[in-house]
Amino acid sequence: MATFEASRPAVGAMAVGTARAAYEVALDYAKTRQQFGRPIIDNQGVAFQLADMRTRIDAARLMVWRASWMAVSGRPFESAEGSMSKLFASETAKQVTAQAVQILGGNGFTREYPVERMHRDAAIYTIFEGTSEIQRLVIARTLSGVQIR
Ligand SMILES: Cc1cc2nc3c(=O)[nH]c(=O)nc-3n(C[C@H](O)[C@H](O)[C@H](O)COP(=O)(O)OP(=O)(O)OC[C@H]3O[C@@H](n4cnc5c(N)ncnc54)[C@H](O)[C@@H]3O)c2cc1C
Repeated sequence: MATFEASRPAVGAMAVGTARAAYEVALDYAKTRQQFGRPIIDNQGVAFQLADMRTRIDAARLMVWRASWMAVSGRPFESAEGSMSKLFASETAKQVTAQAVQILGGNGFTREYPVERMHRDAAIYTIFEGTSEIQRLVIARTLSGVQIR
């Protein structure tokens, strides 16, 4: 379990990379795609999604950096910070890539644009190296000291 705390931030880093890539595609697309005579980013409904995506990605990145720093400097993961970083980054990747598909509309669903692949790729981060449910179990056990099942 101690090894997992140190290896899970690496999966978190992969998830941050996928989320960032999808966000960058969505941002570029929103600035160039014209509907009703103006770029779709002119709409708060689109712009606010991008703001949320970027905010979550930055938060996930900081959690991954903290856990990675703890691993390389040999600090104890007293609050399951490694599992927390993997949980948050992988769920962020799933959410952000889904939002990217939405922002690209019909094009987001097709294979002509990369975001549908990124969304499929993002799903694995919530499964391997322990599913999100197992991350929550590890975090809950660590913070409570109770063998929650
Ligand atoms: C592409 C890929 C690569 C992989 N690479 C590796 C690898 O390199 N090394 C390796 O060891 N494994 C690897 N795996 C296996 C991966 O770690 C497992 O698939 C994962 O841990 C989930 O186990 P499972 O598939 O048996 O699902 P199950 O354990 O059957 O879980 C099914 C569902 O039930 C939930 N669940 C199960 N138990 C609980 C519980 N106690 N509380 C709450 N929910 C629960 C799970 O969260 C999940 O949603 C890989 C899997 C894939 C798809």
